[in-house]
Amino acid sequence: MRASRTAPIAALAALALALAASPARADDPASVLTTGAAGTDGANVVVGDVLNASVAAGTTANFATAAGGSTGVKCAVSAFTATVTDNPVAPGVAGESTTGHTFSSCTANIFGVTKVNSVTVNNLPFGTTVDSATGAVTVTGTDTAPIQTTLSGSTYKMLDSTRPVVGAQAVGIARAAYEFLLERIQSQTLHGTPMASHQHIMFELAEMHMEITASRMLAHRAAWMADHHLDNVSVASMAKAHAARTAQMVTTRAMVLLGDEALEPGHPVEKWYRDAKIYDIFEGTGQIQRRIIAKTMTGMNPT
Ligand SMILES: Cc1cc2nc3c(=O)[nH]c(=O)nc-3n(C[C@H](O)[C@H](O)[C@H](O)COP(=O)(O)OP(=O)(O)OC[C@H]3O[C@@H](n4cnc5c(N)ncnc54)[C@H](O)[C@@H]3O)c2cc1C
Repeated sequence: MRASRTAPIAALAALALALAASPARADDPASVLTTGAAGTDGANVVVGDVLNASVAAGTTANFATAAGGSTGVKCAVSAFTATVTDNPVAPGVAGESTTGHTFSSCTANIFGVTKVNSVTVNNLPFGTTVDSATGAVTVTGTDTAPIQTTLSGSTYKMLDSTRPVVGAQAVGIARAAYEFLLERIQSQTLHGTPMASHQHIMFELAEMHMEITASRMLAHRAAWMADHHLDNVSVASMAKAHAARTAQMVTTRAMVLLGDEALEPGHPVEKWYRDAKIYDIFEGTGQIQRRIIAKTMTGMNPT
């Protein structure tokens, strides 16, 4: 699963465009903004040109989940994009409209986010002037302007860690109902003979035991893979879906085999019967788990 969320910019350090004013050249009246390094002759920049300027080395762009907080996304590389709006002959003052800001080498320390895929700034309301007489670069704008930044990251590993746990919970419900039923079967008679001696009861018990054991092993495998940071997308879905189905099957059959007893108010098996259904719904429904499993088998992106 991928998640996109919008976060306010908490801090952007050193937002200065590193544009330098070049001296006038002999053959052509030089504008305030020219191409090339500072102090060298270069072609005049044309109004409408788009300039890129990296922020100073060692400067990071930080996006925090709360003002002043240390949790969020940090980008080690970023650059401004500015469109030239005015570039008179030097000496003078050139103008630019800061239209974009790109980011790379980003990391996140937000729980559940394993990777930052992209950072996109949707609008920037800043203007910049460059004075060739003083070399001053002035950025104008307001830090309360509605800058919107979209962060896209990978988060699906969180579900791959929680689905084995949810599967284990469903195994617990199935096991509880099974053990309650087993105790009754071992201590009661049916039509005058021990309940456990009836073949259809044996089949029911064997079916429940097989499914519970299989669900438990799948949950163990999915959890082991998560612990070892292995790709367990499909196995986690299998563990969760299988255990949910087992919990529903076992509690439903236990209700039937216990007969009237299970309908008594407050009976534990009746409660487990009702509890079992949610395991087919939350943390991704049974249908969604099956989509993930099938997509993995066919080489499609499961998220
Ligand atoms: C009691 C309860 C507790 C919950 N607790 C939490 C919680 O703690 N945290 C949390 O984040 N959420 C929780 N949920 C929400 C739960 O995760 C969602 O209800 C569940 O994922 C289904 O999503 P939905 O309700 O949007 O249904 P929908 O996505 O609208 O699905 C409706 C039905 O359509 C099926 N369906 C949807 N898409 C497809 C498809 N592509 N192919 C085939 N079938 C499809 C679904 O399987 C489902 O049967 C809880 C829900 C309940 C009922």
